[in-house]
Amino acid sequence: MTETTTRSAVLILLGPPGAGKGTQARMLEERFGLVQLSTGDLLRAAVAAGTDAGKAAKAVMEAGELVSDEIVLAILKDRMAEPDTARGVILDGFPRTPGQAEALDALLSEQGLAIDAAISIEVEDAAMVRRVSGRYTCAACGEGYHDDFKQPAQAGICDKCGGTAFKRRADDNAETVGARLTAYHASTAPLIAYYEARGVLRSVDGMAAIDTIAQNLAAIVSEVTA
Ligand code: ADP
Ligand code: ADP
Ligand code: ZN
Repeated sequence: MTETTTRSAVLILLGPPGAGKGTQARMLEERFGLVQLSTGDLLRAAVAAGTDAGKAAKAVMEAGELVSDEIVLAILKDRMAEPDTARGVILDGFPRTPGQAEALDALLSEQGLAIDAAISIEVEDAAMVRRVSGRYTCAACGEGYHDDFKQPAQAGICDKCGGTAFKRRADDNAETVGARLTAYHASTAPLIAYYEARGVLRSVDGMAAIDTIAQNLAAIVSEVTA
């Protein structure tokens, strides 16, 4: 029996730590019915579950360095094999190295899929320490907040689910941000040229307000998936 390939969108959000990838991916997920796929979230879940991959990744993540391509690709492939991803995916924080980008191309072509757009969220390094240090999320639903830039409408209560417990990431501190930015410039920034050469690169101004960026991204997504 041959399987019909239904065309599903593949979008990549590129940008340094704190650029707004997660915030925007969640908004696109709701608006377009796509599935957010964050390798950072998948790795944190593996660490929490104490799997072999999680044990290997924990110290690397706490140091702000990149987890090996081997571990990340294994986790990503497993997630891509789940049926909900057929609706289309927004890759958030993946790929992060040229090796991951090449492996993604191979994985997608096996499945008859292609990248619709790799969207670079352009931000200034100087703003990233504040973005990352002020970040926190709802413990129940994962909605993202910020001490200065995005507080819940009612203090201490999640806008999305009414939850009252919030958490901060172990690696969201001023010391680790430096290492994460270094890793971004060394390993991930070269992907901008990689996707430009393939004709799928787009960009948005990541220093704008969250809602403005959301509108600009939505326009790109509508265009490339039309
Ligand atoms: P990333 O996933 O790229 O690391 P996040 O989406 O988690 O980034 O955003 C980092 C922090 O900055 C969060 O606390 C978020 O609420 C906040 N934030 C996201 N986008 C903006 C923006 N355009 N302006 C101000 N703060 C933002
Ligand atoms: P950020 O908010 O910095 O974009 P993420 O949640 O995407 O954070 O990633 C947190 C950490 O998880 C990274 O600093 C890195 O250690 C690890 N990580 C996440 N995605 C990848 C990836 N694609 N390749 C290697 N390491 C990754
Ligand atoms: Zn919530």
